[in-house]
Amino acid sequence: MKTTPAVGATLFAMAALWAPATPAPAQAPKPPAPNALMQIVPVSPNLEPAIPRPAQEQAAREKLAALEKRTGRKPNILVFLVDDLGYGDVGVYGGGVSVGSPTPHIDALARGGLRLTSTYSQPTCTPTRAAINTGRLPVRSGLTRPILTGDPIKKNPWADEVTAAKLLSDNGYRTAVVGKWHLGEAEGMKPVDVGYDEFFGFFMVVSEYSAYMDRRRYPELVTKPDRVKAFRSTGAIEDIVETRKGQPMKKVRPLETVDDIANCDQDFANYSADFIRRAAQDKTPFYLIHAFSKVHFDNWPAKGYQGKSPAGTPYRDAVVEVDDIVGRIMQTLKDTGQLENTLVFFTSDNGPNEDTCPDCAYTPFRRGKGTTWEGGVRVPGIAYWPGMIQAGRESDGLFDLLDLFNTSLAVGGIADKIPTDRYIDGIDQSAFLLADTGESKRQTVYMWVEYDFTALRFHEFKTHSKVLNVHNTFNDLSEATTERTGMAPWVYNLYSDPKEQLSRSTSQFEWVLIYLGKEGLRHAATFEKYPMKDIGLRKQ
Ligand code: CA
Repeated sequence: MKTTPAVGATLFAMAALWAPATPAPAQAPKPPAPNALMQIVPVSPNLEPAIPRPAQEQAAREKLAALEKRTGRKPNILVFLVDDLGYGDVGVYGGGVSVGSPTPHIDALARGGLRLTSTYSQPTCTPTRAAINTGRLPVRSGLTRPILTGDPIKKNPWADEVTAAKLLSDNGYRTAVVGKWHLGEAEGMKPVDVGYDEFFGFFMVVSEYSAYMDRRRYPELVTKPDRVKAFRSTGAIEDIVETRKGQPMKKVRPLETVDDIANCDQDFANYSADFIRRAAQDKTPFYLIHAFSKVHFDNWPAKGYQGKSPAGTPYRDAVVEVDDIVGRIMQTLKDTGQLENTLVFFTSDNGPNEDTCPDCAYTPFRRGKGTTWEGGVRVPGIAYWPGMIQAGRESDGLFDLLDLFNTSLAVGGIADKIPTDRYIDGIDQSAFLLADTGESKRQTVYMWVEYDFTALRFHEFKTHSKVLNVHNTFNDLSEATTERTGMAPWVYNLYSDPKEQLSRSTSQFEWVLIYLGKEGLRHAATFEKYPMKDIGLRKQ
């Protein structure tokens, strides 16, 4: 399948203007010899090129080998994935007490490990989760936007995707996702269908459940029982469920009231703590994605959390609860003797949902969720592993959450199991995280909004070939358009202009445009052999 003309046009609008004359997008450009700007080298035909860092890779290999010799098994991997948490909500990123919701436990992870300042998610929930699970951009898996109840999905995206959980489960790991799934609830799309040994949580997103129970917020629906009945007739599973591979799904409790939703994350925390204890007892390495339901709207305080934050608002109380849960699960790791044998990664699946402001997430960057302005996709990224990751490190090296796929497989000792029949956009960043002076192996982050290639980050430069234009302040999702830029793409230096306020593409950064164009061409070329997928979420 060829790259569709729309995508080719999008990518090459930028490249063709600024790169040297290129005959056609069908040819992959010849890789240049590495230099200070273009540092990457090819890795294999189906893998994203990476910056070679042989010394740090050797250091990381030695650390992992020494640990395995000491413990006698592979290390655990724990990902804390918060929903819609902003870069600026966490204390060590400038939030915490200053925004009325201290985050001491998350801050402790950063102070005891590596704080990344250039971690990138996808612009919304489902795409980021798909990317972490597959190591592939959402346009390749077809999971390009949040799945909504009743969505006409015409093809199971998982039929030809491979998750990190499956590969790890097949190689001796116990794998679980706990909390929000949001990657499909039909047959073949549930967590245990795609490689997880266990799932405890719900399938959709908090706001889809609260829509039929919160009379004050959704009166058009809740005050009309016939509409509620119609809305709930889609067959969606409206319960917290528990599933284990090879066993029937168990409904744990229904989600009928706002109190039910308010206490979800407490249940999820209990399950994850139990999962960690069981894995420790069995001496089995685990891979656990703890996916909070908070702080996605609608936020209701769990028991004991109302007014617990200095701000006293539902959103800020939810941040405090999330931080407490991080502390509780970390304590479980410590109590079970797993602290020094577990790579912990803390992040958020996208930036603030500004449509819910003012009681919403905070980012110092431009705009929020749904956009590829920095506010939408630049998220907290903290790697913590006492004895393995040196405490107090900080880096602005690029880290795409896609990289968690390759990195998890490398830490689990099965980097050689990465599929070779598909394009993998992720990069193994284990050496970046583990070596004391590790640097990122990623040169470029590619940003998409659904099927539109919109922007890329290259070194400290960011360029947009399409922009999300928000027509009503704080309506990033509800009143935005995706628009082509004019003749020149918009270019910002994120060191001097982190809020992307003043493009200087032609007056100051013409010299950068050549490289940005080349990176666009290189990315476009990957779609020639490895096409995108449409599972029914694409707008016509
Ligand atoms: Ca989200």
